[in-house]
Amino acid sequence: MGRGRQADGVDVPASEMKKWFDSNYHFVVPEFSEETDFKLVFNKALEEFTEAKNIGVTTRPVVLGPVTFLALGKATKDAKAGFRPVSLLPKLLPVYKQLLADLKAAGAESVQIDEPILVLDVAATYEKEFITAYSELAPVSPKLVLATYYGRLDSNLTFVAKLPIAGLHIDLDRAPAQLDQVIAAVKPSNIILSLGVVSGRNIWKSDFQAALKLGQKAVEAIGAERVIIATSSSLLHTPVTLAAEKKLTPEQQDWFSFALEKASEVSTIASVLSGSQDAKVTEALEANKVSIAKRREFERTSDDAVRKRVAAITPEMLERKSPFAVRKEIQVKQLGLPKFPTTTIGSFPQTQEIRTARAKLGKKEITEEEYKTFIKKEIESVVRIQEKIGLDLLVHGEPERNDMVQYFGERLHGFVFTQNGWVQSYGSRYVRPPIIVSDVSRPGPITVEWSSYAQSVTQKPMKGMLTGPVTILNWSFPRADVSREIQCKQLALALRDEVVDLEKAGIKAVQVDEPALREGLPLRKPDWDAYLSWALPSFKIATAGVTDALQTHSHFCYSDFGDIFPSIQALDADVISIEASKSDMKLLSTFKQYGYSNQIGPGVYDIHSPRVPSEQEIKDRIKAMLEFLSPDQLFINPDCGLKTRAWKETEASLINLVNAARWARQTY
Ligand code: GLN
Ligand code: ZN
Repeated sequence: MGRGRQADGVDVPASEMKKWFDSNYHFVVPEFSEETDFKLVFNKALEEFTEAKNIGVTTRPVVLGPVTFLALGKATKDAKAGFRPVSLLPKLLPVYKQLLADLKAAGAESVQIDEPILVLDVAATYEKEFITAYSELAPVSPKLVLATYYGRLDSNLTFVAKLPIAGLHIDLDRAPAQLDQVIAAVKPSNIILSLGVVSGRNIWKSDFQAALKLGQKAVEAIGAERVIIATSSSLLHTPVTLAAEKKLTPEQQDWFSFALEKASEVSTIASVLSGSQDAKVTEALEANKVSIAKRREFERTSDDAVRKRVAAITPEMLERKSPFAVRKEIQVKQLGLPKFPTTTIGSFPQTQEIRTARAKLGKKEITEEEYKTFIKKEIESVVRIQEKIGLDLLVHGEPERNDMVQYFGERLHGFVFTQNGWVQSYGSRYVRPPIIVSDVSRPGPITVEWSSYAQSVTQKPMKGMLTGPVTILNWSFPRADVSREIQCKQLALALRDEVVDLEKAGIKAVQVDEPALREGLPLRKPDWDAYLSWALPSFKIATAGVTDALQTHSHFCYSDFGDIFPSIQALDADVISIEASKSDMKLLSTFKQYGYSNQIGPGVYDIHSPRVPSEQEIKDRIKAMLEFLSPDQLFINPDCGLKTRAWKETEASLINLVNAARWARQTY
């Protein structure tokens, strides 16, 4: 399901993958139709419960709740119009009953049942389903602890507090302010409160004093026997253990807490609250006080110059000097691009050879100089290939980058990297997010040497390539005690200097990628404006420091713009490139509807598969795009970077793309 299958005459694409709430973890989206039947074929929860029980540990099994399971699914292509997956609840519940009854029979005292959908606005429409589900499940189950995380319950609390559950888990890392409301709602019942006071989403040491305050409040209101201490969410989003880090300084070691360390924090906090505090716990409390104070002191003495610069950001810094129409004329002259200019999104195939050279540099088997010579050779070869294919706006190909966020983090002040801080993204894929630990600044130019070199070997214009501030922030572990707004603006200022330096070095177009802008949107719509109010300005700070002559590009890896279209428009990039799936031209009608006037390159082919699109196919897409966009608005490009592709299909696809653009120039 995750990979699809293309063998023995079968050709089934992989199932859709989506990000799990606002995390970078993905799940395979289940597909349902009114025909769907459910059967319990394998009770994994039971097997694992039994395995632990056999060595003398009674665990609390965790299962995903039925409402969230259905609500996150989608209708199959053959489902009847208007079919809602949650309508299958009556068919699904018998299977959940069996699963839970089996656990009870095996000796499970309680089960954690996860319903994170309850922190979304949409959950209000599932009230009826929640009541049905839990009144049917409760009588046959072990005690049910309903878990919510990543956000607040808000008005959903009114019906949740009345469900026949034994316990309710709430996230007090993301939403500490909901504690009073939750206490008031559950007080008249027997519901046990599980307080998620230790963050499951960050890598910072918990502040015990703050956690104890929340815990004490609950204990005073409903009694210690009704309070559980827990992590805010599963520990899936944090690395396993700090013990595996050998390169952090002792000072840095003292700031962090990974999964195993967080588990021990939970136990310390619980001991204090339950009055079973021994000498070891007292010692842990004292040590924590010292660590937190030291970290605060470090924060306080962080980079004053950077903070002053953020405070001095003026509204003028966010705007280009002239409106787009004026800029466009200057840029057309300066870049000398034809109508329907062709370009790519930045990366070219990251070959084994490139990865080997990088690894050798890491192990010091080659010198810095040897590595640079190798990368320059790579860049020149990518330039020659683009010239031969006939592309108009070239790129250097990004061979020097390990990862689009890590590469920049490693060259900015304010970041720390782990050796083994891997976090699951999906299947066997893991990422190792950089950690922002202090004020961010740029000690010197990052990409200028590579872009200038690339420009020096060709007459064609070269596009500089940067990762945007919002994306760097969203794909790192941010600081917990400074707002994301401040961190993002610091990144934006550092990137602003880089863009200006690229222009000074003679680069005439710069792309600032923001693939993570959309996924950073808060889970609840009323919170969107607060996020956009700094995310959008951050992009603008990064890109508006240049003259009218510099053509700014931005790239987004998605096409789901419906709700945030005005925000994309407000970025005022000269050119944006986006994903545009084959059949779905609906998206482009949005651009027309909003009167989008800047330039745009909706991807003309999908780079996520090795398939080579035919010239005709690309022509057809251009034709379809022109129903919504004017000929002088359109850029012709693939829908994302080419780093995961092989050279063979890359060249073949780009040749067809260039031919289709030539045809368009003659036809329109
Ligand atoms: N410039 C990057 C690349 O081409 C963009 C990657 C992305 O959108 N995720 O690889
Ligand atoms: Zn992309």
